[in-house]
Amino acid sequence: TRHAGLNRIAFFNPEMQAKVVEHVLLEDQLRSALKENQFVLYFQPQVQFPDTRVGYEVLLRWQHPERGMVSPAVFIPLAEKSRLILPIGRWVLEQACQTLARWQDDPAKASWQLAVNVSVVQFQGVGFTEQVATIIRQTGAPPRLLKLEVTESLLMEDPERVAQVMSEIRGLGVRFSLDDFGTGYSSLSYLKRLSLDQIKIDQSFVRDVTTNPASAAIVDSIIGLSQGLGLEVIAEGVETGAQRDWLVAHGCDHFQGYLFGRPGPEVF
Ligand code: C2E
Ligand code: CA
Ligand code: CA
Ligand code: CA
Repeated sequence: TRHAGLNRIAFFNPEMQAKVVEHVLLEDQLRSALKENQFVLYFQPQVQFPDTRVGYEVLLRWQHPERGMVSPAVFIPLAEKSRLILPIGRWVLEQACQTLARWQDDPAKASWQLAVNVSVVQFQGVGFTEQVATIIRQTGAPPRLLKLEVTESLLMEDPERVAQVMSEIRGLGVRFSLDDFGTGYSSLSYLKRLSLDQIKIDQSFVRDVTTNPASAAIVDSIIGLSQGLGLEVIAEGVETGAQRDWLVAHGCDHFQGYLFGRPGPEVF
């Protein structure tokens, strides 16, 4: 029948099936990756013009025993779907806060901030505020040096609750950055309701800001919006001097990207 024919297409497309099998396998291995010590934090510098090191963004890496380095673009979505992001995200926060606490003994590093990516799944879990508070207390990390990077997807779920949890966490002294700004679907009105400190311009706009008038207009608007709201603005994915110069000329003075340093296992 026609119906059976459709099912065949859905189930026996070999490419799709290989992908499903692959994901099931990876998810299984992700489950043991924490206790096998396969995760590593990479750090990418964030700078303020002209050359002040403000701190680093923490980027998670999975050193898979056979596959080598697995990209977070692959395993984070799997970790979110399986909710393994809860223990993994907690581990990242603990490691980041231990690092911040350790830096307090070194005058050269004591003012560096760490930006940590937080998944919407972590926000939805009960007791996220308490988890952050406990980690800060137990590690002795200065809360003002911790910045949580969240995305607009957070707002798709339960905007009221999200705004509540964010203001609780901000009450601890922790800061928030809105990551990948402009790539989501939410309206601008939430910018008013959220307790934000920084907006991060997505690298997709930065990439061709000097050559594409539409990207230039979008970046210009984001900078203006941030200034109007009294928020700091940082551009990610800055790779060339021309991009940096354009951004400086248009009022953005915080940067992250290969021009300033690639993510790596050590700070320098
Ligand atoms: P993101 O938060 O937007 O991070 C920026 C990504 O751009 C990183 O990819 C970084 O390595 C890359 N990048 C930095 N500078 C440049 C540049 O100049 N040019 C180009 N082309 N790329 C640049 P990465 O490390 O592969 O991370 C991918 C995504 O995985 C992150 O995107 C973030 O959404 C997610 N992720 C990473 N670590 C964590 C984590 O600990 N927790 C959660 N929930 N998500 C994470
Ligand atoms: Ca980020
Ligand atoms: Ca980003
Ligand atoms: Ca991005």
